[in-house]
Amino acid sequence: MPDIQSCIDHIKTVVDVDPWAVEMAEKALKEMERGEKTMRIDEYQTLAARTINENLTDVEMILHALHGLSAEVGELHGIYQKSYQGHEVNPDDVKKEVGDIMWMVAEFCTAKGWELEDICQMNIDKLRKRYPAGFSAERSIHREE
Ligand SMILES: [Mg+2]
Repeated sequence: MPDIQSCIDHIKTVVDVDPWAVEMAEKALKEMERGEKTMRIDEYQTLAARTINENLTDVEMILHALHGLSAEVGELHGIYQKSYQGHEVNPDDVKKEVGDIMWMVAEFCTAKGWELEDICQMNIDKLRKRYPAGFSAERSIHREE
């Protein structure tokens, strides 16, 4: 079986590949070789969509995501609520609930036909405009939008 770099090199020779795609593939390969995480947000959305109920209409999918988002945020609150009853907050449990919240957000975006990556970029662009030098209480209080 050929290694990934050989595959990337071969693809570059047989098809007109977007140089950016090659750059990203080689970057991902280097990250993999260093044992770093490589999942991109678009990959996450695709993988999450694999477990969406295919029998739902788009409207039902949107409602499922919204109800599920509220439920999962509630579960996250529940973990911290129990800390006031003597329970330990297990970071892995918190991470699992955050993952469930992410799944619901991904389902919502998928149902709307939106790329989660675009939504993330819009959010960062908004925050860059609002806080060009990082968070500022002054800019928060007197923000335009
Ligand atoms: Mg959950």
